[in-house]
Amino acid sequence: MTTASRREVQAVAATGQSEIQRERRELPVVEGDPAHLAGRRETATVDVGGVKLGSRHPVVVQSMTNTDTADVDGTALQVAALAHAGSELVRVTVNNDAAAAAVPEMVRKLRDLGIGVPVVGDFHYNGHQLLVEYPGMARSLAKYRINPGNVGGKRHDQNFVTIVRVAIENDVPVRIGVNWGSLDQALLTQLMDENAAATLPRDSRDVMIEAMLQSALRSAELAERTGLGHDRIVISAKVSNVRDLVDVYRLLSARCDYPLHLGLTEAGMGMKGIVASTAGLSILLGEGVGDTIRVSLTPAPGGDRTEEVLVAQQVLQSLGLRSFMPQVSACPGCGRTTSTFFQEMAQRIQGYLRDQMPAWAESHPGVEEMRVAVMGCVVNGPGESKHADIGISLPGTFEEPVAPVFVDGALRTTLRGEGLVEEFIGILDDYVERRYGSTA
Ligand code: SF4
Repeated sequence: MTTASRREVQAVAATGQSEIQRERRELPVVEGDPAHLAGRRETATVDVGGVKLGSRHPVVVQSMTNTDTADVDGTALQVAALAHAGSELVRVTVNNDAAAAAVPEMVRKLRDLGIGVPVVGDFHYNGHQLLVEYPGMARSLAKYRINPGNVGGKRHDQNFVTIVRVAIENDVPVRIGVNWGSLDQALLTQLMDENAAATLPRDSRDVMIEAMLQSALRSAELAERTGLGHDRIVISAKVSNVRDLVDVYRLLSARCDYPLHLGLTEAGMGMKGIVASTAGLSILLGEGVGDTIRVSLTPAPGGDRTEEVLVAQQVLQSLGLRSFMPQVSACPGCGRTTSTFFQEMAQRIQGYLRDQMPAWAESHPGVEEMRVAVMGCVVNGPGESKHADIGISLPGTFEEPVAPVFVDGALRTTLRGEGLVEEFIGILDDYVERRYGSTA
């Protein structure tokens, strides 16, 4: 399939929309939506343990642990770290008896620590058994992720229905999460055979994408026929290539009104994973598609799992969809900044803001929208600093060793000499207190 325009995609997709889905697309218009919700593809709202997913709510950041879920303390600590970093939902794998048995205690430990983040269970192959055999685990999870490609071959529908019935009993929503790497093979084979017999066979990539969409949407229909509410279903259809991701979700978004979980699966490590995820998510979020996101980064050995949360937050903040922490504008530096002082200062300010945010988020509401500038020389320094809420323009090489500080667009003071960073942080603290503190 060539990359289709959004209109073309929607026209094609509309023909595949089921009666149930077409009926449910007729949703009342919500008056007075905040600006950051404008332009979203309209969806039902799904409540996941108190966190609302859907077009009437901000795009939710979620993440997944990589601990052995049977390790209660290790998993609880990582869930806590992810929640502390800003993950609003955290998924854990529930892959065997030991993991299933550990989940209730793990969730209890979190609650004892005062961490209320909803925990989602990820099931493959044996979810229908585990959810039935471990009712305490089923009750303690806020959502079940079901992969329709991994619920069994011959007993596919029975196993799927078993999971859905447990979800209904516990009043828990499900995510029907299709993945390119574990596609329902029976469905794919059927569509490939039909395509081969067609007068004008389609590209095999088109058939693969169609199989993903049908797997997700047929499963959603089966869940609804089993009795699960329309507003208890979230859908994802993940692939590992950016263009495929965009095409799959454009089609999916046109065929249903379920909230969509976006993410590039197996995004990879480091810069590659961050850039590829950002590219795919940005295109779709920019079109109003996507209600919750996960950035699936492969951490370096011993690396910090919370990086995926920070990247997801930064994607949303860069797109102007949500604010999580003050943004630091820093110039890239050039031949006018031959010392590393400017880079070190930008890094220290960024780190300082990140360290303060957990406390400031409670005590200084609105501070997450503050803009700070740390600039390297007189060329763009004063101008960029004036545009920020608070900014400092450092002296470039051969410039007079003074650093003007601007607050709300006006020159506040000029710093010089040793202790410049500490002085700037002091001015920053005063500004935060004055503008966002309890006496503001
Ligand atoms: S602001 Fe100055 S130091 Fe920074 S990139 Fe521009 S010219 Fe170079």
